[in-house]
Parts: sequence; structure tokens; C-alpha cells
Amino acid sequence: MPTARSSTPTTVLKNATVYDGTGADPFPADVRIADGRIDLVGEVVSAAREIDATGLAVAPGFIDVHTHDDFAAVVHPDMGFKVRGGVTTCVVGNCGMGCAPFSEASLLARVFHPNAKLPPWEGHRGYLAYLDEHPPGTNVAVLAGHGSLRLAAMGVARSEPTGKQMRRMKSDLEEGLDAGVVGLSTGLIYEPSKYGRTEELIELAGVMRGTGALYASHMRDEGLGLLDSVRETIRIGEQAGVAVQISHHKASGRRAWGLVSESLRLIEAAQERGLEVHADQYPYTAGSTVLSAVLSQTVGANAPLRLADVVIASAAGHPDWEGQSLPSLATKWGVDAAEAGRRALAEEPMATVVLHTMDEEDVRTVLRHPSTMIGSDGIPILEGKPHPRLFGTFARILGRYSRELGLLSLPEAIHRMTGFPARKFGLVGRGVVCEGAAADLVVFDPATVRDTGTFEDPIHYPEGIVHVFVNGVHTVRDGGLTGATAGRALRRPG
Ligand SMILES: [Zn+2]
Repeated sequence: MPTARSSTPTTVLKNATVYDGTGADPFPADVRIADGRIDLVGEVVSAAREIDATGLAVAPGFIDVHTHDDFAAVVHPDMGFKVRGGVTTCVVGNCGMGCAPFSEASLLARVFHPNAKLPPWEGHRGYLAYLDEHPPGTNVAVLAGHGSLRLAAMGVARSEPTGKQMRRMKSDLEEGLDAGVVGLSTGLIYEPSKYGRTEELIELAGVMRGTGALYASHMRDEGLGLLDSVRETIRIGEQAGVAVQISHHKASGRRAWGLVSESLRLIEAAQERGLEVHADQYPYTAGSTVLSAVLSQTVGANAPLRLADVVIASAAGHPDWEGQSLPSLATKWGVDAAEAGRRALAEEPMATVVLHTMDEEDVRTVLRHPSTMIGSDGIPILEGKPHPRLFGTFARILGRYSRELGLLSLPEAIHRMTGFPARKFGLVGRGVVCEGAAADLVVFDPATVRDTGTFEDPIHYPEGIVHVFVNGVHTVRDGGLTGATAGRALRRPG
């Protein structure tokens, strides 16, 4: 063994079964970690520190491409809710909600972290520098958020931007690109991102042409308007000349069930034309968002959502509401369910909800498709009844959808959460187990790994995730946090 030059002791994962993140078949090997990198995959005779990985899988740490952890990485720096599920990198800034400009971004953050003290930072560069100084438990890659940019440029105006307002949005996005953000996200059901018309988004996304940064979208309509929304998203990518990521691909609301077969075909057709378009998905039949974004969708005969499908997830001043559907609150209050929704929103404008609106068959159809990678969309509120996807997404893919249902082979399932997203989001030297790659690694038991949270009782860590290394630092040991916070702010290579 070569003399270690390492600042951290060399560690060997001995007798592992390696899933290298490329989708290739697993192979037996020892994996040696030194100086934050994988420095040998093969046979290691001796090492300062050995971990017996007999019977265990060693894979690249999972990359959660769809998170809202911009501020959680600051407020809950251990990131235990992610790293204990095997996640070593979070892509933050999804759905139009970014980390900069600070004053606007922090307004949006108040929904998830109402009482947290936040240190101000200057632009995306300042956010990334803050993480350099105060490393969280996972790596963080950043999307700029259209909602945050628009709020800074023109407040909550519904109009098209003036020339000056457009220049402001572009310059804030350029600041982010110079700092290393990996793309721009939109949240076209949320204020104020939803006021952005297609042409505005094409012009803004066009700033990214040639940079390698991508356009990620929570689309305008995931219900009956799903196909038009996919067409709009693809058009934005094609006209702006940038790669596209469709966020949390789904068909929401009973009337829209089945449309995912068509939306997948639209993705395939765009890929054939040469567009780099893919999607992410969380493996559940319920979604989650803020109450304020859903009530309008429950009105009228063609309403995409039913009031009965809406369950309160968090309501800071009314913990007794958490876990209750709008009809059950209505019964308690002696009003109808629509009135219960209005009353709940008036009293708790920041309330979040879980929405039971998807079809299991659709979830499987999307998951099987090779364009789909995995993203939790977890809302990092660590009390009440948050959607269990925050903790369990990756273990659920491995346990339920790969091992139990056989929808994806284990190498393929791992690829969808490691090598595939690393390539798409430009996370160079991550998402693979090979010599020289960053030592972001998860050691898990493929026979037992599973998610354990339910909608009724969501706050549980997965089982079967034994060790996690982030940049070579032992962050989860025997299923528990070590207290290490070795994540890095990841920047798109310029
Ligand atoms: Zn979203």
C-alpha cells in the first residue's frame, strides 16, 4: 500500500459489492478512500481503517436533483433528513424558489423556516461562499429561481417585464452563472413565477445558452393541461438552446390519469430532435405543496383537485390540524370543505399540504421510462406531518420499486440516482465509483433497504442505509449521524 499522504486517515470498504453508478452489473471489490477521493477500486491488502462491507452494496452517494433545501442547508446543517437516506448531493432552488437575491429569496424561505435566523448573503455567489464557510452535511448544487429573480425585478406584478426589469432578471441570472449555478428553475403555478409567459422564459433561459446550465421547470399545469405544459417546456429549451429538466413528472388529478404515456412520448420526440430533455420523479401517489397554491384548483365542475384529497401537512400555530383532510376539518368546524380550506388559509397562510392526486400505474410508467431520474421534492419542515418523501425517496426506489416490484434492476435504479443525474447536472467527478472520483459513497444492505415513513407517521429514517461518506468523510456510521458536515458547494465548471 502506498504511504498515505492524506490529511484524513485512509479507509477501506472491504469485500464490497460495487454498483458503480453507470448501470453496469455489480462486481466484488474493495474501495479505498483517501483525501476525499476514491483512490483504489480493487484489492487492498491492508489499511489503517477497514469497514467490513461483506454482503453490502457500495454505490455512489445519491444525488437528489429536486430539493428545496437552499435554506435547510443553512438552518439544519447536518442535513440528517437527507444524508441518513443515502443522499450526498442536493440540487437546491427548484420550482422557481432560489437562494438569491437574498431579501426576496428569504421571503419564500419563510414558508419552510418561519422562525429561523438567516445570515444575509450577496447573490448566488454569496450563498455558495456561505456554504464554503459553513459546510452542510451534503454537497449542494444550485439552481437560480425564476420566482426569486422576478420578485426582485418587478415584485408581484402580473405584467410582462419592461426592458429594464428584464435586464435586471438577466443580470441576476448572469451573476448566478458566473458564480457556478447549474441552471434556472421555474415554478409556473406559484406567485410570481406563474406570471412569466413563455416568451419571457425563452429570453431569460437564453442567457444560459452555451454555458451547460439547464432549464428546470415545475410546469404550468400537471393536470388536464399536462401535454401543453410539456410542449411549452420543451419549446423553451429548444428556442433558448438549453437542456431541459421536467420537474416531478406526473399526471395530477383523476381526470388526467394516463396522460403520462403521452407526455413521455413528447419527451422521446424532443430527444430525437436533439434536445437534452429528461425528468425527475418522486415515488409516491401524493404530492405536497403550500395550501395557498391549491385552493384555486379545487373550484368548479372541472376542478383538477378534490377537496378530500387535500391533507394539512404543517400549520405552525395549529398542530392539531396536521394530518387532517379539509373535509375532516370542515366537519369539526361545522362548515363545508371549501370554507374549511379558506378558513385554514386565512389563519395559517404558510400552511403546507399533502395532495393525494396520482395514480400508482402512472407512477410506475414514469419510473420505468429511461428519461426519469429521481428527486425527492421533499419539503424540509421537520415537524408536523411532512410528506414522507423528504426522508424515504431513495430507499423506496431501492426497496419497493426495485427489490419488491422489480420495476428497475438494482444497477439501473442506482444509475437513475447517481451517474445519470451527475451527468445531466454537470456534477463532474461525482455519481460514479471509480478511481479519482469524489468519495461520495453509500453502503447499504440491498436485502433490507426500505423506506419506513407513512403519510400518517412520516418522520422516520429508512432502514438498511449503513454508512454514508461525503467527500470521504464518514457522515453516517451504522445508520446514525457522526456529526460530520463535509458537504461542498458545487459549482458548474466554467
Ligand atoms: Zn414543484
